Amino acid sequence: MSIYPAYPAPSDRAVELHARLTEFVQTQVLPGEPAYHSFRAERGHDDHTVPPVVEELKAKARAQGLWNLFLPSESGLTQLEYATLAELTGWSNNLAPEALNCQAPDTGNMELLHLFGTEEQRERWLRPLLDGEIRSGFAMTEPAVASSDATNIESSIVRDGDEYVLNGRKWFTSGASDPRCRVLILMGKTDPEAARHRQQSMVIVPIDTPGVRVERSVTVFGQQHQPGHAVTVFEDVRVPVTNLLGEEGGGFACAQARLGPGRIHHVMRALGAGERALAMMVARAKERVAFGKPLAEQGALRERIAESRVELQQARGLCHQAAYVIDSEGNKAARHLVAAAKVAVPRIVTGVIDRAIQVHGGLGVTDDTPLADMWGWHRAMRIFDGPDEVHLASLARAELDAEPTFRV
Ligand SMILES: Cc1cc2nc3c(=O)[nH]c(=O)nc-3n(C[C@H](O)[C@H](O)[C@H](O)COP(=O)(O)OP(=O)(O)OC[C@H]3O[C@@H](n4cnc5c(N)ncnc54)[C@H](O)[C@@H]3O)c2cc1C
Repeated sequence: MSIYPAYPAPSDRAVELHARLTEFVQTQVLPGEPAYHSFRAERGHDDHTVPPVVEELKAKARAQGLWNLFLPSESGLTQLEYATLAELTGWSNNLAPEALNCQAPDTGNMELLHLFGTEEQRERWLRPLLDGEIRSGFAMTEPAVASSDATNIESSIVRDGDEYVLNGRKWFTSGASDPRCRVLILMGKTDPEAARHRQQSMVIVPIDTPGVRVERSVTVFGQQHQPGHAVTVFEDVRVPVTNLLGEEGGGFACAQARLGPGRIHHVMRALGAGERALAMMVARAKERVAFGKPLAEQGALRERIAESRVELQQARGLCHQAAYVIDSEGNKAARHLVAAAKVAVPRIVTGVIDRAIQVHGGLGVTDDTPLADMWGWHRAMRIFDGPDEVHLASLARAELDAEPTFRV
């Protein structure tokens, strides 16, 4: 083992994609944001219609080869290379990831189908997802139980001849309210008597199967996101046994595999949001004059700008190290670094966004800038894909088991 990591140089392709994506975000994505927001405002708060600019951007990005970059087998990129690209998409989280077909939760679902799907399942669901023709949801969390502990999940998957019968009530099924959503991956229990981590299985459920009901979509700090975070009910839903994903009892292992890359991809994008907040903070501080001089000349504010740079650099270092270890040693070896990044980066980024809000004064708390929405999403990130405490608990376990460099 080396005493410090030596990152491989990025491939020519990664460098070229970075330049192309930078141009794309600047000239296509950021100018598309007003159309996205005015369309949604016109339709009303609870409407989930897809603003036309989304599909327009998808067509443009795909034509430029900016497509499915998240999946190494499709893109040929390492996670470290992808980190630099995902960060650029984080500047415009509502638009850029989807423009490139790199948006959660579809990316995690595609990874699941890629890793565990049969040929038939891949043909029916993975292909159209990779082509950006449909969207999908992942239905694990349940309102009735503490779902940060996935062994608590209560939804039942009962075999009846050649079918499974599904019953359960889920919420936060992101994407299920999107009119393009065609399929859900449900996590439930096939054998409540089995060992704790062998009770769960995952089943593919076409959203139009009788008994599936999307009741409503919950808000995130008052924002109703276009794809929605749905309360989804399954009542005597019947699917063929061939819809099982992976093996019976393998749901917990599948969930771990899904969340590994998913978590670090959220972290990569979060860095872009932090950079955008810092850029907005600097621009506002230069132009806004208070008490006779620009805000940028006030000492306290300069310190906040500098602190933000220090913290974002720290956050990026941790994220890149985790990505590098995934590349060089695999998901398992990287799990503690990923957990550390998942805790540290959203905290840092919400802090930077909070400072940017403060510099914008009253404007900062309105929806006339993206800052309030950005803060809400990254605050929520400290809960989804595992609350901070769950990651800290596993980090503490590893630390307590570790041998120190010297005995003290
Ligand atoms: C915006 C958003 C999108 C989401 N998208 C999806 C999705 O697509 N699909 C899906 O299935 N779910 C999704 N979720 C749900 C998310 O994964 C869960 O909210 C998360 O796993 C926590 O589960 P819970 O809400 O049941 O909280 P609980 O399990 O009830 O935990 C509550 C709190 O208890 C504390 N806690 C928990 N465990 C420990 C511990 N070991 N030590 C100390 N404290 C602890 C933490 O502070 C935690 O926040 C989404 C959530 C949000 C906010």
